[in-house]
Amino acid sequence: MTESTASDRFSDIRDGVRALCAQFPGEYWRRVDRERAYPAEFVQALTEAGYLACLVPEEYGGAGLPLAAACAILEEIQKAGANGGACHAQIYTMGTVLRHGSTAQKAKYLPEIAAGRLRLQAFGVTEPTSGTDTLSLRTTAVRQGDRYVVNGQKVWTSRAEHSDLMLLLARTTPKEQVQKKGEGLSVFLIDMRDALGRGLTIRPIRTMMNHATTEVFFDSLEIPADTLVGEEGKGFRYILSGMNAERILIAAECVGDARWFIAKASGYARERKVFGRPIGQNQGVQFPIARAYAQSEAANLMVERAAVLFDAGQPCGPEANMAKMLAAEASWAAAEACVQTHGGFGFAEEYDVERKFRETRLYQVAPISTNLILAYLAEHVLGLPRSY
Ligand SMILES: Cc1cc2nc3c(=O)[nH]c(=O)nc-3n(C[C@H](O)[C@H](O)[C@H](O)COP(=O)(O)OP(=O)(O)OC[C@H]3O[C@@H](n4cnc5c(N)ncnc54)[C@H](O)[C@@H]3O)c2cc1C
Repeated sequence: MTESTASDRFSDIRDGVRALCAQFPGEYWRRVDRERAYPAEFVQALTEAGYLACLVPEEYGGAGLPLAAACAILEEIQKAGANGGACHAQIYTMGTVLRHGSTAQKAKYLPEIAAGRLRLQAFGVTEPTSGTDTLSLRTTAVRQGDRYVVNGQKVWTSRAEHSDLMLLLARTTPKEQVQKKGEGLSVFLIDMRDALGRGLTIRPIRTMMNHATTEVFFDSLEIPADTLVGEEGKGFRYILSGMNAERILIAAECVGDARWFIAKASGYARERKVFGRPIGQNQGVQFPIARAYAQSEAANLMVERAAVLFDAGQPCGPEANMAKMLAAEASWAAAEACVQTHGGFGFAEEYDVERKFRETRLYQVAPISTNLILAYLAEHVLGLPRSY
């Protein structure tokens, strides 16, 4: 099977990630999935190899690689049957601090993040009531002297139990008092080690896959005023600027998932004999796999295009969104074809198909749902009236 040539651009990195992932075979992922355990050993190995610091600039001790390299890393992780969802946010969440943080914040945190001594992989945006409508979020941070007092609740704050720091989006000016609708929200870099038990409570949410996601409660949590990132009231803009990177990287993960499913399905279809011939000889079995292959290769081109634009500092909103949507749909098509090709064995734990099937389904909902991407394209690219 051939893959697009740009995939060879980071062949050393790809080889390294593949070799690392080979130490964490299916049995490892089945165990952590069964126990709903954090894949701590895997995350540690990625940290020690420096992959999670790939985007941190060299001056702060990171590798200073382009986003396209981070795409290669995450794609390879998923393609190896592993699950980067346990730590992918460690790669990109620091981007908000890098782009908008103060000199002091960058000097304090980025070298520690790059060295893997500090984890910044929790991102508190979504709330139970507002959901996708981020501007209606209700968590407030009220300035009192040299502190802010935070009250409210987040949901789906993934990896909060496995992160030292959290990037929090909270309202600092009531919605009714802002001039423009995107204003009045602020970003804070919270040290959860200090905050736990002093107004911060984290409760895990059990989900259909092993994702270490949580709900987080803020009950008059006091945080130092210098945890504010950038200017007060501009947080929504800062968060948006990080979302393109997140979408492109998650799209690369979906391409990796699709490639895993397609290789697994093709291999099984070649080997499995029913009615005295390989099941893969039947067009009814071949075609869904071939279609998913075409979809995933096309999605990969969009991921590459979006990453090139991002790395060149060009606007890439449409491409980042399209990459995320197309790749999530391709990975789901490949997952579906893979289960169907395996027949009953697609449901058996030991084939890993059902686990990856559950894991890849997430990406049509998070970090942004397909409908909202379509609404974005309709409004901002096609000039159609806003639908909500
Ligand atoms: C496992 C997991 C991990 C997550 N991790 C994080 C995290 O780390 N940090 C974080 O902040 N969030 C996280 N999320 C939240 C995720 O980003 C949201 O679930 C997602 O954005 C959808 O929001 P919602 O669940 O509130 O759905 P809702 O906003 O309630 O939407 C429900 C459905 O209605 C559709 N819909 C809503 N409005 C419209 C409209 N105007 N037009 C068309 N369709 C519409 C949506 O597409 C969706 O399918 C995570 C979610 C999950 C499940």
